[in-house]
Amino acid sequence: MGSTLYQKVWDLHTVRKLPTGQTQLFVGLHLVHEVTSPQAFAMLKDRGWTVPFPGRTLATVDHIVPTRNVARPFADAMAEEMLARLEANCREHRVPLHGLGDAAQGIVHVIGPELGATQPGMTIACGDSHTSTHGAFGALAFGIGTSQVRDVLATQCLALDPLKVRRIDVEGTLPKGVYAKDAILAIIGRLGVKGGVGFAYEYGGEVIERMSMEERMTVCNMSVEGGARAGYVNPDRTTFDYLRGRPLAPEGTAFERASAWWASLASDAGARYDDRVTMQGSSIEPAVTWGINPGQVVGVSERVPRPEDVEPSERPGVVEALAYMGLAGGSAILGTRIDVAFIGSCTNGRLSDLREAARVVKGRRAAPHVKALVVPGSQAVSRAAEDEGLDAVFREAGFEWRGAGCSMCLAMNDDRLEGRQMCASSSNRNFKGRQGSPTGRTLLMSPAMVAAAAVAGEVADVRRML
Ligand code: SF4
Repeated sequence: MGSTLYQKVWDLHTVRKLPTGQTQLFVGLHLVHEVTSPQAFAMLKDRGWTVPFPGRTLATVDHIVPTRNVARPFADAMAEEMLARLEANCREHRVPLHGLGDAAQGIVHVIGPELGATQPGMTIACGDSHTSTHGAFGALAFGIGTSQVRDVLATQCLALDPLKVRRIDVEGTLPKGVYAKDAILAIIGRLGVKGGVGFAYEYGGEVIERMSMEERMTVCNMSVEGGARAGYVNPDRTTFDYLRGRPLAPEGTAFERASAWWASLASDAGARYDDRVTMQGSSIEPAVTWGINPGQVVGVSERVPRPEDVEPSERPGVVEALAYMGLAGGSAILGTRIDVAFIGSCTNGRLSDLREAARVVKGRRAAPHVKALVVPGSQAVSRAAEDEGLDAVFREAGFEWRGAGCSMCLAMNDDRLEGRQMCASSSNRNFKGRQGSPTGRTLLMSPAMVAAAAVAGEVADVRRML
């Protein structure tokens, strides 16, 4: 019987089985940022430990970066302290840092792939939930907590429980105006936000296989929103073509040797899965979340559920979500008024995302009552977009064009919702208060759908604007 990529990569990185039943895994790449690392570095200092594998560690600054004025010291003293700590810790432990002003700075899950640091067959860890993004390359990538960041800094290892593997095939084709974001929201909508607990998700099928690496990253990024510990796509020609020539990818014949090895890690044809799910791409439409978790999602032509229409066990959650969002059960999601439009994040802040959104806004203008902003995922995305003139397209349409960072995905800088503002957002979480205001509301959707909503001033169907 064949093996899955998960099993092959897990076995290759197993140091030993621990008495607890967990596995001690070697971590090939540790990505570090300013929010979850200060305490971890401090714990190392307390014990007099150093980082044994600084060459397998890569740091950047993303969460707290202001997107308008990056002059130091930052106006926000806490943000300044976090960045200063990261700079000092990286200096002390010889960890490469793509800091402020560095041409490669950006969101940790955007720059790892851009630099070619993310490669197939790796185990990757980062103190951020959306580390699952890197699974798009056929890596096993895990979001970890601060004490685990300490463990990886000190030992380059992690103690993890083994996972089951669910194969999710999306077959056929996605209709025009339907994107990777809609596919993953449809998957989470079907399987639930806890459906993936204990699993790694392996994505496949014609739709996934035809996707670009950027689209695969969007899908894998949100695996964690479906409860999965990791998500991945088997590496193929698309993966290798993306990586060839990247600064940290192997070069010349070493790249060809690496590609052959990477290809051998893909799941075997006869691999056994713990569960299988198949969906049809043609049945997916542009998705919009209506509630307070990413599984509370409908197609743009659908209505939000009424409490009486759902299973009794789900009813309290639906009542709570409708009350928080100020939506009536049974109402159409189409036409829901928005106040803010945010295009960015590690889910959808890459060049292809900005291109699709720009295609929608070109020759149109954001509605007068909508504050619309575009925050590229990295400096490299920003430069590439500006070279293509996308910044001008957005500016002419009344959008603000900002510097790279996490921005309003999490609102750890000064880009935040105010009061009960409703935000059409290309990010990944619609939890209560996620975008900075304790009462702010988030509607997750694709970047093209956010662009359409910004123009219409309300949730709109992007298929009518392409
Ligand atoms: S963009 Fe959002 S989800 Fe992604 S790393 Fe930043 S804060 Fe986390």
